[in-house]
Amino acid sequence: MQRLDGKALAQKMQAELAQQVQHLQAENGRSPGLAVLMVGDNPASAAYVQNKERACLAVGIASFGKHFPTETTQAELAQTIRELNQDDRVDGILVQLPLPDHLDSVALLNEIDPNKDADGLHPVNLGRLMRGEPGLRSCTPAGVMRLLEEYQIACKGKQAVVIGRSILVGKPIALMLLEADATVTIAHSRSQDLAAIARRADILIAAVGCQNLVTAEMVKPGAVVIDVGINRITDSTGKSRLVGDVDFDAVQQVAGYLTPVPGGVGAMTVTMLLHNTMWSYSQKFSHSERKAQ
Ligand code: NAD
Repeated sequence: MQRLDGKALAQKMQAELAQQVQHLQAENGRSPGLAVLMVGDNPASAAYVQNKERACLAVGIASFGKHFPTETTQAELAQTIRELNQDDRVDGILVQLPLPDHLDSVALLNEIDPNKDADGLHPVNLGRLMRGEPGLRSCTPAGVMRLLEEYQIACKGKQAVVIGRSILVGKPIALMLLEADATVTIAHSRSQDLAAIARRADILIAAVGCQNLVTAEMVKPGAVVIDVGINRITDSTGKSRLVGDVDFDAVQQVAGYLTPVPGGVGAMTVTMLLHNTMWSYSQKFSHSERKAQ
């Protein structure tokens, strides 16, 4: 079994991004910029935001993060997003989810300029994905595809099974695999005989949020198994740690390739966010160059 090392690939990509930023900053007179908006004090969200800001700093992307108190109104946040849409120093805008209950996250995501939609969740970008047009792709699914590419795992003609159908992970991954010419099945909480569906997969993606959902009996020998799930558990020694949706120890005896948790898909997600910010920045400068010609 070959372990798909998301952490190593993320480090390699971040080193490449840092070089590109250095070069383009000199050429264009400013660095790319990312604004992460966070509301409230959810500790998991705060940790994710801190990770994103640290990664920006490491590659030379400017951070325009804003932290709002829990009681912030929809109108205040919408106004901030509109200002960031107009701010030429900002190439990517991201609203850290989940938001407190009184806020309508979909309405806020829809306020983001689709060309600054670093998370690729605006309906315009989801529509571009659906149509197979270039655009900003959601970070976790794009990270999965980049990982497959790095290990030269071809999708063409393969049977791919995606477990999970969320707009954040399952559906966009399924569309990306389809775009890569796989034959795609989407399984979900109402699917019957999940094990039989999963066993057909040459490429099996688990994106559920349920520890040990994927057992060795569900995996075809030699299959590529991608574990997107993140579950925090307390182990027998009383220590808290992260595990995925796949029973790693058992599945590694059967699978051809497998992503670890942590150090697999999760490590790629932040890097794809930086990549998206860089993409928006480059698009902006290539557009203004074309206009000047
Ligand atoms: P979600 O709760 O929105 O969706 C879960 C999906 O799993 C649903 O579509 C549901 O139909 C399906 N499901 C639930 N129980 C099932 C079952 N018993 N059998 C088959 N399908 C079942 O979650 P999400 O936002 O899509 O995230 C999924 C997992 O991926 C979570 O663990 C989340 O933490 C993780 N995640 C990881 C990253 C990363 O960077 N690695 C990013 C986003 C989400």
